[in-house]
Amino acid sequence: MANQENDFKKVISHAKEYGYVFQSSEIYDGLSAVYDYAQNGAELKKNIREYWWKAMVQMNDNIVGIDAAIFMHPTTWKASGHVDAFNDPLIDNKDSKKRYRADVLVEDHVAKIEAKIDKEVNKAAKRFGAQFDKKQFLATNNRVLDYQEKATSILKRLGKSLENEDLVDVKNLIEELEIACPVSGSRNWTEVKQFNLMFGTKLGASADSAMDLYLRPETAQGIFVNFLNVQKTGRMKIPFGIAQVGKAFRNEIVARQFIFRQREFEQMEMQFFIRPGSQKEWYEKWKENRMKWHLSLGMGEDNYRFHDHEKLAHYADAAADIEFKFPFGFKELEGIHSRTNFDLGSHEKHSGKKLQYFDNEINESYVPYVVETSIGLDRMFLAVFSNALTEEALDNGTTRTVLRLPAVLAPTKAAILPLIKRDGLPELAHEIVDDLKWDFNVIYDEKDAVGRRYRRQDANGTPFCITVDHQSLEDNTVTLRHRDSMEQERVAITEVKGIILAEVAMKHWLQKMK
Ligand code: ATP
Repeated sequence: MANQENDFKKVISHAKEYGYVFQSSEIYDGLSAVYDYAQNGAELKKNIREYWWKAMVQMNDNIVGIDAAIFMHPTTWKASGHVDAFNDPLIDNKDSKKRYRADVLVEDHVAKIEAKIDKEVNKAAKRFGAQFDKKQFLATNNRVLDYQEKATSILKRLGKSLENEDLVDVKNLIEELEIACPVSGSRNWTEVKQFNLMFGTKLGASADSAMDLYLRPETAQGIFVNFLNVQKTGRMKIPFGIAQVGKAFRNEIVARQFIFRQREFEQMEMQFFIRPGSQKEWYEKWKENRMKWHLSLGMGEDNYRFHDHEKLAHYADAAADIEFKFPFGFKELEGIHSRTNFDLGSHEKHSGKKLQYFDNEINESYVPYVVETSIGLDRMFLAVFSNALTEEALDNGTTRTVLRLPAVLAPTKAAILPLIKRDGLPELAHEIVDDLKWDFNVIYDEKDAVGRRYRRQDANGTPFCITVDHQSLEDNTVTLRHRDSMEQERVAITEVKGIILAEVAMKHWLQKMK
């Protein structure tokens, strides 16, 4: 646990030191759970967004993208169920006066049980060495089975109580599990209450004509209300999808864990409209497709897992999360939800407008069913960034800090370094910069010894360094250094662009999804 916390602190301080993420309004001591993306962070975020958009919109001829407004007619949120049901159960500790999400307290308790399982597995793996069969161990070891049963039954009960809005039982569960406040250590809790997460604001200048609005808590509704507009103008045939990336706002009860849970964040969502009855098939297809997208980035298969929901949201008939191993454990990164015809059906009722599709293959009109994929861009950023940050022991006894970002996402693709600041080397280096910058982000760096410059680029995640030396003036070659392997090769200046493009081009990475 202490190790995890340390790792996470390193992630946060590295993100600041290297210009990735700053606290919002830091000069005023910041604003809780609001962050700004800095010069490198904005580039990394843009690249993740583009990687998603290309995979969704460009590569699928039946998916189109839109960009709806953040403000929406207030009835939208009545129809979507957010006014009545977008609540989290909160609980206060009377001694520390700290507020918690009651369900998260229980889930954290379960995470501790799961950590015990991991411990048993590691112990056994050491004991049995090469013969260790993890699957068999998990299925047969009595202690592990006990832990597993405990974890499952707690989550089942929590899911049921939340579904039935039985907040008294949620409180009982917290008491039975003897969960204590992490700050005061006491078990002196208030009752559990519901808290609506939407931010309200007003539209209009005069007090009496002002209209109450909400900042959208999800981007999906902007897609639903435009469903027919897009279908008609795009002549879309079911099955088809509408994708969108944009800001969403939630007044989270507890916003910790850096950019994992913010009050203002960005979502990348896609609603896939299908014929009623085909939702199981599409739900499975999208689960598989989205996992492939994640795996294409090469961040390690073991770092992902599916988690099927016990508790379903008011609109869903099936739901799963793709969880990622963040520095604080496995947590939700993306949701895949089979939303039935709930949203379109409800917008029909509230607006009085038909939101139906005439399916000429079966000669029938219907309100389409929807399978949604919804991923937080900021959470994806954190996944990529925290996974990339590595302290590496080198053969010569020193260590180096490397940010092993997937090259396709790295903010800067190459640094161009003249070995020394004279003899015409800076001029040639600038010529290379001027040529490469048409195709990708590059930087020029002439300060400090070249070894230190390499380290600086390693820590910044730059996949390539190009060093210009005296030989370069004679034979038009440079040293190309690879961030991860630290290998250096001598290549012709004319070849550099091709080599880098082959490694950083989105096409090269997206093809791994096939
Ligand atoms: P959680 O259970 O963690 O609150 P959720 O189930 O409410 O998340 P969804 O409503 O399914 O999340 O939203 C889809 C995605 O949006 C999530 O998988 C997550 O990546 C992202 N997301 C949700 N809330 C936040 C937040 N407060 N800050 C950053 N990203 C968020």
